[in-house]
Amino acid sequence: MSRFTNDSVIAVIGAGTMGAGIAQVAANAGHQVLLYDAAEGAAKRGIDNTAKGLAKLVQRGKITQTDADALLARLNPVDALTDLASANLVIEAIVERLDIKQQVFGQLEEICAESTVIATNTSSISVTAIGSTLQRPQNLVGMHFFNPAPIMKLVEVISGLDTDPQIAADIYALSASWGKQPVLAKSTPGFIVNRVARPFYAEGLRICQEGGADIATIDALMRECGGFRMGPFELMDLIGHDVNYAVTCSVFSAFYNDQRFLPSLIQKELVDAGHLGRKTGRGFYDYSDNAVKPAVKTADPCPAPESITVEGALGVAEPLVSLFEQAGIRVNRIDNDEVEGMITVGDATVMLTNGQFTTMRAGETLRPNLINFDLALNYSQATRIALAPADQASAEAIQAAVGLFQAIGKSVSIIDDIPGMIVMRTVCMLANEGFDAVNQQVCDEQAVDIAMKGGVNYPCGPIEWVNNLELSYALDVLDNLMDAYGEDRYRASPLLLRKVAGGA
Ligand code: NAD
Repeated sequence: MSRFTNDSVIAVIGAGTMGAGIAQVAANAGHQVLLYDAAEGAAKRGIDNTAKGLAKLVQRGKITQTDADALLARLNPVDALTDLASANLVIEAIVERLDIKQQVFGQLEEICAESTVIATNTSSISVTAIGSTLQRPQNLVGMHFFNPAPIMKLVEVISGLDTDPQIAADIYALSASWGKQPVLAKSTPGFIVNRVARPFYAEGLRICQEGGADIATIDALMRECGGFRMGPFELMDLIGHDVNYAVTCSVFSAFYNDQRFLPSLIQKELVDAGHLGRKTGRGFYDYSDNAVKPAVKTADPCPAPESITVEGALGVAEPLVSLFEQAGIRVNRIDNDEVEGMITVGDATVMLTNGQFTTMRAGETLRPNLINFDLALNYSQATRIALAPADQASAEAIQAAVGLFQAIGKSVSIIDDIPGMIVMRTVCMLANEGFDAVNQQVCDEQAVDIAMKGGVNYPCGPIEWVNNLELSYALDVLDNLMDAYGEDRYRASPLLLRKVAGGA
């Protein structure tokens, strides 16, 4: 039996972006909510903003006026911390500073009952460290909501070293009863989302820094081929480079400079210049009124082939074959388990990227006209695909490959020959980080996928994604990236190695 019921009083401290939203979530679930903010009038302002949001929902017919009024009646602004004495759960969403959080929790321990659970919405501070100055650290738990709290489903329930496991379990159940998707995780740098998401930004930054593709093309490919709602550059501009860069730096240093989390020089340049993204009118993109959005690199139309040959198994790219057939292309199929899956079109050989430079793979396979294509979330639904030709590929071969994908309705972006291309390399790195978090006992595999879908809207959990791809393929991609760069950053997680060895 959980210690929380519908009658439990929930207090929220801090009525800013997160606190006001969290208060709304608790009130929506039927709790009486006390909202306190140190800034005069801020709690009332937070509730006024919630009222405005609810009025819009009533207007759009999403909720009734009666429900909106009832929810608002359960939101009570209070003037002093001492007014929170009756709370069964206090959720803190104040300024992100260890000393101030410790000070507020210390006061709360004097004000509230011994049984009161205290939760912190911190995104980056160790729950263990916050608890270190408390009399009852076992009552402290992380309850990490995502912005905007009423909409985003995920709550990371974080246990510090001294957190009572039953309290974490009760907060998990309470979050689920509020309609959220909770996950359990240990207090470690970045928890789940802010750790596993690092490669989403880092690989994009690196591809851009190495001239693999320009920002608009990388963003378009991540959206139109990878199925992500936003590309990395659009998203970093939205988050703000000061915030995004600071999170990367803090995770990097908290993991004792593990190269996997290495911050990016091109992002530092933006921070140094004060180009922080949308909020300053300029980041990677220019948001001024007359700014011209950079064009996405798209190949000119090329003729569709009449026939192609498919040899070996295409694996995750197999749905392409029926798309080619539906487009009226004759497909000659050669069953051959001995070779990697490949498509021959005109002079060109087309293969799914395996993390190698196409140029190197072309040499090894003795196919100079090799052209790698990128991973798609769904080859039928993708509207764009990237091709990375080998340096030695002929112009005719490149045109043949472009025409093949254009024939099935895809826009084609030709990118430079970078190992693992864009979507493949990002997804394999995301999953690798997920496996490493699991390997280090931070959370379980299911939690990684729930967290990335519910906290940052990924179209598919990274672990589920590489399971579809085949884990051995993802491992090859990582090993080939490691060979290409010679950097520890691309080392495969021991858990992934073990799973592949075990035939998973
Ligand atoms: P915010 O600046 O919008 O709001 C913070 C509020 O806390 C302000 O109204 C401020 O007056 C109040 N406050 C500051 N010190 C206080 C104190 N000692 N006692 C009472 N009230 C105090 O900040 P935010 O974005 O809502 O972030 C709050 C917390 O949530 C931080 O720990 C942050 O890391 C975390 N968080 C933020 C986001 C996000 O996207 N903004 C997402 C998840 C978690």
